[in-house]
Amino acid sequence: MSKDHKAVINNSWIVSQRGNRNELDPRRPYAYLVEKERNASGKIEETAIIFLTNKECSFTCLMCDLWKNTTEVSVPEGSIPTQIEWALSKMPRAKHLKLYNSGSFFDERAIPEKDYAKIASLVEHFETVIVEAHPRLIGEKCLRFRNMLKPELEVAIGLETVHPEVLQKLNKQMTPEDFKKGVNFLSVNNIRSRAFILLRPPFMSESEGVYWAKRSLDFAFQSGIECCIVIPVRPGNGAMDSLMKNGNFSLPNILSLEEVLEYGISLGQGRVFADVWDLKLFSTCGSCFDERVKRLTQMNLQQKMMPQVNCNCDFHNASITESA
Ligand code: SF4
Ligand SMILES: [Zn+2]
Repeated sequence: MSKDHKAVINNSWIVSQRGNRNELDPRRPYAYLVEKERNASGKIEETAIIFLTNKECSFTCLMCDLWKNTTEVSVPEGSIPTQIEWALSKMPRAKHLKLYNSGSFFDERAIPEKDYAKIASLVEHFETVIVEAHPRLIGEKCLRFRNMLKPELEVAIGLETVHPEVLQKLNKQMTPEDFKKGVNFLSVNNIRSRAFILLRPPFMSESEGVYWAKRSLDFAFQSGIECCIVIPVRPGNGAMDSLMKNGNFSLPNILSLEEVLEYGISLGQGRVFADVWDLKLFSTCGSCFDERVKRLTQMNLQQKMMPQVNCNCDFHNASITESA
């Protein structure tokens, strides 16, 4: 681990580092899009994502920037179905739908349970509906929502890292055991789950970042997860920028993302995706960047190894990885 962070990392320190949140209309999602994703049965199909405008998450994780597009108070009853209806009217047809609310779908303060039936009727033509949840908020409410749904329910859970001290410092208020318990609850109730795994959270060198992302993939699959998404950690939420300034956080390299994705796919335990959003941030070489993004995108879709990108930067980056 890199040098210790002297300041206490808690909710108030994390919040004190923040800038302003964006102004949002609680009747509209703050974003929506359709992308291709390989589904569990191997078909590459259109997946819609609606980024719902919702109350800020009840947790305050160190690396999270989702608060920027949230409201300070709970949104009124009926607001979430209105947002979904509006977004669906604008988007091309897709087979699968992600309803991401910048927090936990099953959080009491996020989405009123009274809205579940209306949401279920709006999404009935999809094959799958994917929502996010903190492991400690997985329980009977998931089953009540699942029982109203025609599509199959899938729950996305942030494992982040299985490094015990770093996970604690992330202020996620959970342990790997909580994660396992949540996944197990879903599995015994025949609900599929996916995990978010961080590549190089703070307090790790590049090689530690790669090592712990691989161990986190192992743990997620052993826990019964069917799909993992590897997310390179970014600054931009205030707290991460402060950690970057004092040397406790550095950007992971795109080559490390390739290495972790290769490892995950080679396990053959389930789907593994690399988050390919804004990868420019993680590249130090203009010559091979496009090729690497293409490779990662193809590996995401095909779930198999693609030919390596050969570039002079390989050697340079390999030596950074070893020495970081
Ligand atoms: S639980 Fe998820 S959404 Fe909530 S603060 Fe943590 S990372 Fe962000
Ligand atoms: Zn290069």
